[in-house]
Amino acid sequence: MKKILTGLKPTGDLTLGNYIGAISQMVKLQDEYESFVFVADLHALTTYQNPDELRQRIRKFIAMYIACGIDPKKNTIYIQSENEYLGNISYLLECSTTYGEASRMIQFKEKSKQNANFSVGLLTYPILMASDILYCDTDLVPVGIDQKQHVELARNIAERFNNKYGYTFKLPEPFINSNGQKINDLKYPDKKMSKSEENPNGVISLFDSVEDVKSKIKKATTDSLNNIHYDKENQPGISNLLNIASILDNASIEELENRFKGKGYGEFKSYVADVVGNFIEKIQAKYNEIINSKELDEILDAGIKKSRELAREKYELMKERMGLIR
Ligand code: AMP
Repeated sequence: MKKILTGLKPTGDLTLGNYIGAISQMVKLQDEYESFVFVADLHALTTYQNPDELRQRIRKFIAMYIACGIDPKKNTIYIQSENEYLGNISYLLECSTTYGEASRMIQFKEKSKQNANFSVGLLTYPILMASDILYCDTDLVPVGIDQKQHVELARNIAERFNNKYGYTFKLPEPFINSNGQKINDLKYPDKKMSKSEENPNGVISLFDSVEDVKSKIKKATTDSLNNIHYDKENQPGISNLLNIASILDNASIEELENRFKGKGYGEFKSYVADVVGNFIEKIQAKYNEIINSKELDEILDAGIKKSRELAREKYELMKERMGLIR
């Protein structure tokens, strides 16, 4: 069975965009692949995180993954920082990465411009990501376009290491899911819905109350055309709402367009608000059952045990290949 791996960075609350673009895709793929799902908490540290908030968010992410349908029986679920071998593997991989290629990463170039006091971690985190991907011989890494370059870097580092020291790593492939929908901000529907957005009115957090979710949808930016029609260019707000409802209510866009033909935006928004509200209510009920449970710790214990064993084996093999043995 081929392996697939995904980690989300706990730098803000999980959003409806994360659910539709990443988590729901992982749920679909879990039957076909051996899946590894983790919280990329070390990656969050490239910028300062309040320790108390970070600790709580890490656990919330795991509970929310499971509430959204990531099945602990089908996935290895773990917290990245609990696997101490990943940092060690990362250092060995850094020594097979040139400064030039690390500093050419687009995210590094953009983010280092935004903050003159950027950390060295901002430069090296794609190599830690290579370690996340390579330690367990992942075949596929589902990513958004913005992370594709980092998977390619992992592949290049693996290939270079294999050439220098002998075959050690399977070469991973980025997996850009063409069905993966991009969900946009409710207030600025030309922009991606993002967990780091400052204006919370445009972003649906999976932890929002049902009332807040409904109110945000009712206040979503639309247009003055008064036509419920999918047209991303001229009606980005309505198209975004159609997209969201179509995915969560399992109805085609066309079906929804027909259902709301000649009807007003108020009625359509009430419908979308109910669909998203019901979804949030359902996942939060499951989330509340597990967030403080012993079962959650058992899932994490089993996940990290397996992850650590695989990482230890890979680390030992790398050391042996590199001459780091007595
Ligand atoms: P991020 O929250 O940007 O770190 O992204 C984590 C994962 O969620 C990536 O796989 C993204 O492609 C996905 N994702 C984040 N925001 C959205 C969005 N608004 N629409 C669709 N997918 C998203």
